[in-house]
Amino acid sequence: MKILVLNCGSSSLKYQLIDGDTEAVLAKGLCERIGIEGSRLKHQPAGKEDYVCEEYMEDHTVAVQMVIDALLDTEHGVIKSVKEIGAVGHRVVHGGEYFASSVIITEEVKEAIRKCCDLAPLHNPANLIGIDACEKIMPNVPQVGVFDTAFHQTMPERAYLYALPYEYYEKYKIRRYGFHGTSHKYVAQECAKMMNRPIEESKIITCHLGNGGSICAVRNGKSIDTSMGFTPLEGLVMGTRSGDVDAAVVTYLMQKENLTPSEMDTILNKKSGVLGISGVSSDFRDVQSAGSEGNDRANTALDIFAYKVAKYIGEYAAAMNGVDAIVFTAGLGENSGVIRRAICDYLGFLGVHIDSYNNSLRGKAMEISAPDSRIRVYVIPTNEELMIARDTKELLDK
Ligand code: AMP
Repeated sequence: MKILVLNCGSSSLKYQLIDGDTEAVLAKGLCERIGIEGSRLKHQPAGKEDYVCEEYMEDHTVAVQMVIDALLDTEHGVIKSVKEIGAVGHRVVHGGEYFASSVIITEEVKEAIRKCCDLAPLHNPANLIGIDACEKIMPNVPQVGVFDTAFHQTMPERAYLYALPYEYYEKYKIRRYGFHGTSHKYVAQECAKMMNRPIEESKIITCHLGNGGSICAVRNGKSIDTSMGFTPLEGLVMGTRSGDVDAAVVTYLMQKENLTPSEMDTILNKKSGVLGISGVSSDFRDVQSAGSEGNDRANTALDIFAYKVAKYIGEYAAAMNGVDAIVFTAGLGENSGVIRRAICDYLGFLGVHIDSYNNSLRGKAMEISAPDSRIRVYVIPTNEELMIARDTKELLDK
């Protein structure tokens, strides 16, 4: 069965067509500037030339149709009939407390996703538009929703409740949800395979370090705690997000600078993190080069970042009463040996030792811990699309 995996943003649509049996990527691509002047489709079929189409896409229905047309095209296509697409798997950002696993999309499921729009106002509406577009174009093809939050629904109350008046949890569902769940689940499963150990008997800390970052404690295959919270703002220092700060700073700053809630939100989400501290950039590569040229604030930002990741690893080792493996993934986790080294240098108390040569390699899943390391450390490229395709296939095979 061939599975179309879609990740719809407010003005973009990323896709992959995956063979559910061999897990091969048959084609992938991106529609940008949907509903905005300058729309563009970039289609990358496996084993064929890339194809770019610069045609106006009025909405997501037009974009999905263009993707299907590209997949069917005699020159750039990879399938002969739309009937070859057996299912569509959608990345959905927020499933609230409704979804603890992936589901086949029905009217009730769509209603629940709609109810979570308040919690992810930039993402869930776009995800729903993508689902509706596929229903219009492929009315008989089953669709599956795979939620960023679902993996973390196994967290116990002690991990997800904030120490706020309980009525706000009841009234507004204010609690820790966690994000990047599909990525944490994928790399934890791959890590267990690499350790040659059943995931049901392992304690793994997964570090998804990209522009946004989160850490997850995965005990026996289940998320028992994670660093992002009610929103993706909490936890680690990120490219432009502050991560954890004393909540009193927020009210203090709002008073001092006469800021509206939306202005304060912009400061915390867009102007903080390594960008805010360094004043250089939100891109870790730029901050690293500034640091190596002697920019002290850039070096401080990187040290704060690494220190924070290490503190969370310590916290989650305590939460799981031990740890077998630590996994690094996403843009920074997969590519920056310098940052991985800086984090692991804080973890001597756990007996973590890194192999310098393996830590300097890039581009594939591998162990980077030295033979004498008490805890295994891995770099595993994340693959959320593959995880979505696997979940979709599993649900339909049932
Ligand atoms: P992601 O959000 O997973 O796409 O990750 C993007 C982030 O990864 C960017 O902010 C970059 O700073 C970081 N990144 C990617 N490659 C490298 C690299 N070679 N060295 C340092 N940081 C990198």
